[in-house]
Amino acid sequence: MIDFSATVAAIATPPGKGGVALIRVTGPEAFAVADKCFRPSRGTPLSLCPPRTAVRGDIVDGEEVVDDGLALLFPAPHSYTGEDTVEITCHGGLLVTRTVLEVILSAGARLASAGEFTRRAYMNGTLSLTEAEGIGSLLEATSRGQLRLSARESRSRLSQALSALHEELVLVMASLYATIDYPEEDLAQLSREDLTQRLTEAQHTMRALLATYKTGRTIAEGIPTVICGRPNVGKSSLYNLLCCEDAAIVTDVAGTTRDVLERTVALGDLTLHLSDTAGIHETEDLVERIGVERSCAKIEESQLVFAVFDASESLTDEDLRLIDALRGTSATVVAILNKWDLPHADMQAVEDAFSHVLTLSAKTGDTAPLALLVRDLFTDGAVQVGQDAILSNARQYASLATALEQLTYALEALAAGVPADVACGDLEAAIGSLSMLDGREVSQEVVDRIFSHFCVGK
Ligand code: GDP
Repeated sequence: MIDFSATVAAIATPPGKGGVALIRVTGPEAFAVADKCFRPSRGTPLSLCPPRTAVRGDIVDGEEVVDDGLALLFPAPHSYTGEDTVEITCHGGLLVTRTVLEVILSAGARLASAGEFTRRAYMNGTLSLTEAEGIGSLLEATSRGQLRLSARESRSRLSQALSALHEELVLVMASLYATIDYPEEDLAQLSREDLTQRLTEAQHTMRALLATYKTGRTIAEGIPTVICGRPNVGKSSLYNLLCCEDAAIVTDVAGTTRDVLERTVALGDLTLHLSDTAGIHETEDLVERIGVERSCAKIEESQLVFAVFDASESLTDEDLRLIDALRGTSATVVAILNKWDLPHADMQAVEDAFSHVLTLSAKTGDTAPLALLVRDLFTDGAVQVGQDAILSNARQYASLATALEQLTYALEALAAGVPADVACGDLEAAIGSLSMLDGREVSQEVVDRIFSHFCVGK
């Protein structure tokens, strides 16, 4: 069991050689701890220096100076964690950073656990749970879309939207309870029609928020994507184009890509978890055959398939077999007519078989048209990433879907004219689900799981 009343410290920058490293100390004794190991050049004790102002000084272990650097004080509640916090910047060598941390720990702090700074921020009300989740996603972001989705503006939009919903339901429930507890008196400020109207609007807001999940999830999780096609059509070239480097071997000899190569890449604002597969074709070569089997399995697991065809040659039996094989897939298939820089053959069978067909030259072309097509296929154009409140993880979606269901029961109860306490029970349940969503009431286990993904020092 973690003691969150202790003062903790951790290195906030990644380990390794760098210009500077940052060590954070937070908790009730943060200033006292820092006073013991940071000696400002001007002689004034650090804790008496002005807050949020860089103070130069020595980092000391007793009388021994181990490094020099800068310290910043953030008195509670105006700090990341909401507690007294000191940030010490020292030189960025592995040993020097570790030594400074050890000095701070021996001055009375304990080592922070993974995500403890953000967890404390959540526990002290500086961040809601959805905002904390957003910060976790920000650290993991691999595309501009993910950055926008988890940027401060988006984080607070979602948090505000959920708070407004929560307040609205609490207000309606309080009004309903007033009519139950004091039926004789005219305490309820809102009529039953008003209450129904307000709950119906809350229902619309929840539905709209739930609808953002398709976009949020796509951006947050990325799209499992497979590149397939017969040998020599340009799969590896497309893979390299998307990876912006020579990750796969490009060669004129058919069947060189024998296994599945995997890489996470950014395509426009989206992230693709990309697999370049061995061509789907019949082969006697055992190694290659294993690759082909894996290709088929990958297609089954994917959400997006880039089916590559060589537009400079007539379609072969293998191409036609691929078209057939892809008919049954549940993934979205984008047929790519590659080598479009060369004179092209008749590709009508491809045009007829797939709804999304794109011409490309993997050798000379750019990926912008493909990025636009994938964005249109996988996100909702009505959702403005970076501006709108967007749900982006399954936990958030499940809690809000449950809240909507409970709210709908409450509305049905009100419409049926049953006693108000029935609707109150449903509303209370909906408020409970919203509280779980933004972390007002959430189990320790869920909180543990969320913060276990963070690194030490965040
Ligand atoms: P894979 O077997 O499907 O992975 O095909 P590769 O990517 O290895 O490409 C096979 C050959 O086609 C190589 O010589 C590539 O340089 C060439 N190639 C790939 N894409 C294009 C393209 O768009 N235009 C032209 N002219 N050649 C290409």
